[in-house]
Amino acid sequence: MLYSIGNRIWILSMEEETDRPNLGYIQGSKDSLFIDVGNSPRHMEKMMQALNVQNLPLPTMAVLTHWHWDHTFGLCAFEGISFSTKETARQLSLMQSWKWDHQSMRNRLKSGEEILFCHHHMRMEYENTENIQIKLPTVTFEKRLEINLGDRTVELEKIGGPHSEDSLWAYLPEEKVLFAGDADSGDYYGLEGQYDSMKLRKYIERLEEKDFELYIHGHRPILKKKEILKELYLALNHMK
Ligand SMILES: [Zn+2]
Ligand SMILES: [Zn+2]
Repeated sequence: MLYSIGNRIWILSMEEETDRPNLGYIQGSKDSLFIDVGNSPRHMEKMMQALNVQNLPLPTMAVLTHWHWDHTFGLCAFEGISFSTKETARQLSLMQSWKWDHQSMRNRLKSGEEILFCHHHMRMEYENTENIQIKLPTVTFEKRLEINLGDRTVELEKIGGPHSEDSLWAYLPEEKVLFAGDADSGDYYGLEGQYDSMKLRKYIERLEEKDFELYIHGHRPILKKKEILKELYLALNHMK
């Protein structure tokens, strides 16, 4: 379902079954922008169809919040300019050499390059995983990048955090909306979904400093600033 969270900002709801994250759409007077491009071309096409139904223009730009497949594998179905941190692009570039037949996928599970959760959901999302195509972003940046959509801006900032070192925030200063991808989640590749307490503490500090009202996570309902902070403090205190 595509729904508006106010002032030309739309979200295509996440779908747990095949681990599809929330996708964001921000409409500007000149250009519009996707936040994340989905876990497959089918997911990307679903978003574009939903925009069509609402008579919203297709975006010319897309942002990748981090390298994980569920946020990036739809990029091959998107024709515009895409943005990510350098680290995200580096990881995607590495994965371009991967093969997607069952044996190669199983080998990566054994080597620890892939985790069972993603392996399982990829097999559910794709009828044939050998059709997976990884496309690289057009523009990469180290720390910050500001995108002008005409009458509004989107500020990208590399944030890192406990989930994945390459993560970025996409911030809408006028509306005080913060798209965070999965940045506050645990580390599923390195720590079996657990938190590194130092990284979590630092992330909480950055969140405290940031002036936002709504927090958009990749796989959760929309949260207010005090709600996400309360949860993360609880998780941090739990670790002591
Ligand atoms: Zn995700
Ligand atoms: Zn992730």
